[in-house]
Order: sequence, then C-alpha cells, then structure tokens
Amino acid sequence: MKSAEQIVRDVRSGATTASAELDDALLAVKARNEELNVFLYVDEEGARRQAESVDAAIARGESVGPLAGVPIALKDNLCQRGIPTTCSSRILEGWRPPYSATVVDRLLAAGAVPVGKTNLDEFAMGSSTENSAFGPTRNPLDPTRVPGGSSGGSAAAVAADMTPLALGSDTGGSIRQPAALCGLIGVKPTYGLVSRYGLIAFASSLDQIGPFAKNVTDAAMLLEAIAGHDEMDSTSLPEPAPSLVAHINDGVAGKRIGLVRDLVDGADEDVVQSVLRAAEALAAEGATIVELSIPEFRLGLSAYYILAPAEASSNLARYDGVRYGLRVNADDVTAMNEATRTAGFGDEVKRRIMLGTYALSAGYYDAYYGQALKVRTMMISAFANAYRDVDLLLGATTPSVAFELGSKVSDPMAMYLSDIFTIPTNLAGDAALSVPFGTGEHDLPIGVQLLGPGRSEAKLFAAARVLEIAEGR
Ligand code: GLN
Repeated sequence: MKSAEQIVRDVRSGATTASAELDDALLAVKARNEELNVFLYVDEEGARRQAESVDAAIARGESVGPLAGVPIALKDNLCQRGIPTTCSSRILEGWRPPYSATVVDRLLAAGAVPVGKTNLDEFAMGSSTENSAFGPTRNPLDPTRVPGGSSGGSAAAVAADMTPLALGSDTGGSIRQPAALCGLIGVKPTYGLVSRYGLIAFASSLDQIGPFAKNVTDAAMLLEAIAGHDEMDSTSLPEPAPSLVAHINDGVAGKRIGLVRDLVDGADEDVVQSVLRAAEALAAEGATIVELSIPEFRLGLSAYYILAPAEASSNLARYDGVRYGLRVNADDVTAMNEATRTAGFGDEVKRRIMLGTYALSAGYYDAYYGQALKVRTMMISAFANAYRDVDLLLGATTPSVAFELGSKVSDPMAMYLSDIFTIPTNLAGDAALSVPFGTGEHDLPIGVQLLGPGRSEAKLFAAARVLEIAEGR
C-alpha cells in the first residue's frame, strides 16, 4: 500500500484520485476483514462522499488539505456524527452520536477519508482486543496472535494495508503496545496536545488520541492535522499544532538519550537486544547514550490500576439504560439500571468499575486513591528530574512480541503487565512513541520506545526517523 505522503502527492498532482484510493482501501478491507475482525463498521457511503468532495475540489482547482484523499481508520471510541459508535460494548449498541469528535472534524477538513470504525477492548480496557463484545481482532502478521490493545483494530487496519493511517487512544499504552506488536509507529502525544472532545472517556486524566502509521513521516503528518488547541476540551493546551514534518530529518546529533534500565529489565531477550541495538544506532548518529535507572517507574502499574479504574468507575456511571444504547426493562428504575449494566458490560469492565468504586469509597479513599495520587506526583518529578540531564529516554515498548490469542485472557494480571513499560508516561502526561526496530521470536516485529518531556514530539519524531533509516526504511 502507498504511504499517506505518496497518496497526498498523487491526489494533488492528478496521478490518482481520492475515490480510486478509497476503492483500493475498501477492496483491502473486504479481502481480510472477515478473517481478522478489524472494522466493526464500514461507512462506505460517507467515505465515498468525502472522497468525491476532495476530487471535486481538485477539479475546481482549489487547494486541498494536508491529508487529501488519505483513507483512515478510526477506533470505535471516537464519535463520528450519525455513525454507530460502540466502544466494543453491548451497552452502546445502536447508539449514533449526534456530534463528531474534534479529531474527526479536523480529519475531514484536512481532506482525509474516514473509512470506518475499528474494534477495541471494551471501553479501551485491555491489551489484546480480546475484551471486545464483538469478538477479538487477529494480528495480520500472524492471525493466531493478538494485535495488542486496546487499539488493536486500528493497528491491524494499518498492518493489513487496509488504510495507511489510523487513530487510536492511549490511556496506559493502547497505541504504543499494539503498534509494537504489529510493526507500526504509534504515538502517545503530550496530554492536552490533541483534543479529547468526542473521545468516549475511560480515564480522563490519562486518555490521549494519537496516530498509527507505517512510517514516521506519515505519523507526523497525521498528528499535525489533529493537534492544536480546542476550546471544547478544557484540558487542551493553548498552542496551535506544532510543526513536526519540517523537523523530521533533524537527527539526534548532540542529543543526550537516557537508556532506562527499568524500561528494559524483565523484557524477553529478543526485545532487550533490539533496544540495545537502537541505542547503538542513535549513538552512531551522534547521540550520547547515558545509562540510567528511574526506580519510580516500577510503581507505575500499581498506581495506574487504582487511578484508571477510579476514573472509569465515575465516567461509566452515565451508562444507566436511560441516555444511551441498551436498556433492559425491569420493575423500577434501580432494577432497570442494574439489569442494563449487568447485560451491557463485559467482565473486564465490571472488574474495573468494582476496583474503582472500592478505591474511591469512604474509608478506603486515602489508603488507595490518595496513595496512588502521591505515586503519580513522584512519577511526574522522576521524569522531570531525568529530563534535566537528558533530552529523551529510550526503552522497550512491550516485554514480548505479539502473544497467542487466548494465552492471557484468564489471567488479568498477566494482561496488565503488557503495559508495564508504557504506563509511566501516561501518569506523567508526557509524550512517547513506539517505533519498529528489528524482529524477534517467530520473526515478529519488536517496538522500541522513545520518551520525551511534554511538547517534545518534534524531537521524538526526529529520533524515530534515525532508527527508521538505520533499519533501511
Ligand atoms: N492495557 C491498559 C488497560 O487495560 C491500557 C489501556 C489503554 O491504554 N486504553 O487499562
């Protein structure tokens, strides 16, 4: 499949049309969607209308946006007006949002062509896309394995060459982890860089929307198109979108990059080797590699599994059988609420609601939620301290390559551990990305993680580009 950059160039020059590119994407979806379960909904009609409007604008000689004619997949927790949006949950079945997420409006304005909504772990809770009410997504590189999660459908759409771009959301690793497992670039932007308006909330203080792509430039183009202040999100940063593509070849000469022991220890040997080789590749381009340890990172997982469920238990209280989707009738309102939630939520979502409600309850609040907040503050200062000495950090994205379907479903703790290296960034609100670097067991891709302070996206992309070039891409 062509890169997004190539499609935009060809659409603008008249070498192709947005409609022809859409046809290719739809064919690719038809070829493998049944096998892989990537898209929960394909909006063929809306996509055609958007592609035709891009083509018509070009025919009239008008200028078109920076993503003109590029097919894109949207994680099904992003609202698109009039299009079924489920969060892979029975509780939202049949619900059509009356408004679009800011990112969706920005994509349309940029000329991108949203093709449909992709599968995820229910309400983005999971690391394998097996917690979906609509069945798991399979990894296009090896369909006996998971694509990662929770944005597994979006990662699979790009890995299967259905669309060159996709959007996911990352609360504890849900973009970076599936990107690593599917051999893609996946970016968790600085908290507040991308508007959350119209992203169905899981843990509001951690959630960020971000890109998947096959190459660094495409990912940068997509992030530029969706980033920047939005008055509809009170946590949105005040500045406009940063310029990223223009800095993609800035390199890493003179940069200090911290190789973090705590982001490597415990990973499989093939993953460790890739991270070490990535450090060498960065050093070869003029970076100074500093080995360091940030022991606070080891507390991240425990704090996250208090804070994220606590916020989720509050955010998910709105699914009461009255306002959205499913209702199971019963004798009175309380019984109706209970019957609806019992039927509508899957096991993992119920587990999180119970964990979160417990952690917030009177008598336990200080011991759990209060403690976890203190750990979060420690995490923020640990990162800030590290960034006084180095520009960026380097580590593994995930402990292993893509694992087999079913291998962790009965052990929530094993599943949670998939995100041990990605969670610290979300707690700090900083930026990080995963870039493919080498292959491991079974010839499956490995992702290395680059982390930076808030608003360091341009530096992160430039470092990722150095690794991409080192891999001969
Ligand atoms: N896997 C983590 C969880 O289950 C992170 C999910 C995410 O980033 N949305 O909570």
